[in-house]
Amino acid sequence: MLTTHPFDDDKLREECGIFGVAGVDTAAAMVALGLHALQHRGQEAAGITSWDGHDFYTHRAMGHVAGNFDRDEVIRALAGRSACGHVRYSTTGETSLRNVQPLYAELSSGGFAISHNGNISNAMKLRRDLVRRGSIFQSTSDTEVIIHLVATSNYRTLLDRFIDALKQVEGAYSLICMTPEGMIACRDPLGIRPLVMGRLGDAVIFASETVAFDVVGAEYIRSIDPGELVIVPHGATVEDIRTHRPFGDVAPRPCIFEHVYFSRPDSIVDGSSVYSVRKAIGAQLALENPVDADYVIPVPDSGVPAAIGYAQESGIPFELGIIRSHYIGRTFIQPGDKVRHLGVKLKHNANRALIAGKRIVLIDDSIVRGTTSLKIVQMMREAGATEVHMRIASPPTRHSCFYGVDTPERSGLLAAKHNVSGMREFIHADSLAFLSIDGLYKALGEVKRADIRPQYCDACFTGDYPTSLTDQDEAEVRDQLELLSERVV
Ligand code: SF4
Repeated sequence: MLTTHPFDDDKLREECGIFGVAGVDTAAAMVALGLHALQHRGQEAAGITSWDGHDFYTHRAMGHVAGNFDRDEVIRALAGRSACGHVRYSTTGETSLRNVQPLYAELSSGGFAISHNGNISNAMKLRRDLVRRGSIFQSTSDTEVIIHLVATSNYRTLLDRFIDALKQVEGAYSLICMTPEGMIACRDPLGIRPLVMGRLGDAVIFASETVAFDVVGAEYIRSIDPGELVIVPHGATVEDIRTHRPFGDVAPRPCIFEHVYFSRPDSIVDGSSVYSVRKAIGAQLALENPVDADYVIPVPDSGVPAAIGYAQESGIPFELGIIRSHYIGRTFIQPGDKVRHLGVKLKHNANRALIAGKRIVLIDDSIVRGTTSLKIVQMMREAGATEVHMRIASPPTRHSCFYGVDTPERSGLLAAKHNVSGMREFIHADSLAFLSIDGLYKALGEVKRADIRPQYCDACFTGDYPTSLTDQDEAEVRDQLELLSERVV
């Protein structure tokens, strides 16, 4: 069995990244580059669909973008000036390719391709109704529900049918769709998952993160607003795009974890630099949870910006005490328990000359199962650290996510089983402290969390889900995710 990160199963994982471009000669090649920049959002499969004014062309494959979309013959076959694509995390086995996006269907209005980042929390319910009414599903993906809802809508125009479909789905969706009329990009009314718009000359570009614009030399224009549909008719320029807001006024709740971990630090999410926010998080963490130590040491790579912020605020020197090997690839064979333990040392090694005899404070973005934290603390002690303090740049992760992020069941989350003192014992640290929820909001420029109507989705910390989820919904989302992927973690 192959796995992406053989020793990195102790993180929440974003499940998808999307990219689309309308109005450029080399559309598929540009999408391939954009998806490459979004590879951190999903490493197990990728797909691109293009449109040349007459026909749609699709190529989907298991594996990374590089290796699948860097061959001339693949890109040349994806003809046309408009294309959209998708990277996804974690599908394996023989049934998986049918779930790789973009999904495509022939509707009465013509072809319809869809790339989706998020998770539709009532997909199983909708799917049962659709199947009862005669729909025949080709995949086990929640995204396919949208296609069938569009296909069976009683409205006349494609746009009205699409809006009718979206009004029936709940949960998280950032979408890029292509039809014979043009490209549609939209974000769910709560704006849970990100989506941004840019331009390259006259071409309009959409992506999960701005880092994908940097790679293709495009200019960032703005985030798509929660609940906004942006329509780019084929041949249109940025000046000609139309926007609709069919869901009325809904207070947005974008995912706060994008700022903590998912997005790349060189991206802008909802108008904020991820790097700057992470540094502010580290500074706030130092204010809330000071400790006497000789060095501030980041857990690479995601803990680095917060550790810089912690060091600057506390005055304790920032040093690289853990060196990460960049050569642990996705094709490493899933080892047994004993080799797994050795595996952490393959990926991370202690900088012994620096650490021996020192008191250190380790900064990480989050603790999910706690297994990697335990090994890293142990590695620091074996390298001679006299005290190992752990500071976490987010509140304890106590709840599962149902909005397009791979989380263990609650029973697998260390913070759902232990209080902070029990977690400290589990990872064998001298002290352990987390950022407060209000501290996280402060780092994002808010005064505090608005408890009645929080400004962000923070459900994995608070259990306060932005959409109503019954126990049955939760169980069904779990079933659906199981169906979607036989995960290797
Ligand atoms: Fe993001 Fe957590 Fe909300 Fe999921 S539950 S959308 S990871 S904040």
